[in-house]
Amino acid sequence: MLQQTQMATVIPYFDRFLRRFPTLTELAQADEQEVLRLWEGLGYYRRARALSQSARLLQEAGHETVPDDPDLVGSLPGFGRYTVNAVLSQAYDRRLPILEANSERVLCRLYGIQQNPRDSAVRAQLWKLAESLLPKKSAGDFNQALMELGALVCTPAQPNCSACPLRVHCQAKAQSRQHEIPLRAKSTATVAVDEVAIVVQKRGGVLLVQRSDEGRWAGMWEFPHHPLEERESHEAAAGRLLAALGLECDQLSPLALIQHSVTRFRISMTCLQARYRRGVVQTPGYQNFAWVYADELPNYPLSAAQRRLARCLTQSGRVPMRSPKTNG
Ligand code: SF4
Repeated sequence: MLQQTQMATVIPYFDRFLRRFPTLTELAQADEQEVLRLWEGLGYYRRARALSQSARLLQEAGHETVPDDPDLVGSLPGFGRYTVNAVLSQAYDRRLPILEANSERVLCRLYGIQQNPRDSAVRAQLWKLAESLLPKKSAGDFNQALMELGALVCTPAQPNCSACPLRVHCQAKAQSRQHEIPLRAKSTATVAVDEVAIVVQKRGGVLLVQRSDEGRWAGMWEFPHHPLEERESHEAAAGRLLAALGLECDQLSPLALIQHSVTRFRISMTCLQARYRRGVVQTPGYQNFAWVYADELPNYPLSAAQRRLARCLTQSGRVPMRSPKTNG
């Protein structure tokens, strides 16, 4: 959960996740959709699916906890060198180093490494340095401390060198090069993307489609959407989307404009609502679809932008609730 995400953001997710899945067995037995739903909002959903698959594989192999076995753990989906070493050094005090964004920055500065840390030779050097620094015992605590130091003291833009326990050893500080090390990748230009999304309504239910098991947002659900072609209007793009879905609709009406970012893409998603007239749903590029009542939307894992659209829909009262409980 903490990869690419701040601790403060993660804590409520972590607590909720552990309340629902206090053991590996419970996680292994859970429906993957429920795991995704509890992960919703953290992004990088492939990690949630990998975690769910790994729990199942471990359970099938007869394990009730993550075993103290780097080769076995390293063979699980989603467990790269960093994750294996972080888990086993903290769970079993295995003397294994870690290297992630925070520790990488600390090590580059400490040793005055001016080359690009993404370069494979430099990376290999950093792994060796991380290993050479490990104490004989409490490697997990050491790894945790190195990451914390990077996150709280040796920060990217404003390292607090006067409070740093490494200041007398630090080459970047000695050379006053803290702001040049590590070498930063050139920031890539942002790209504006115009999209259209359609909420197709059929007798109270709305159409959700499920993404395939590969690629971004694998296995997640969403309202059908796609980018506009060059000089295409929103209505024309909506017509093209409905045709791809095999549907004919009436009453295309504006619902919301949702703006969000995905990596370097700044996406403006114009959301339209349409009333189903006829057709059988086709799902090109999707693995499944469902007609969903408004009060069922919380059960489906959606990306953050799609959840905003779902909320907008329910708050606007433009789709009815079905559940007798909700309707009173
Ligand atoms: S002295 Fe400054 S630059 Fe060096 S490791 Fe500490 S915080 Fe980072």
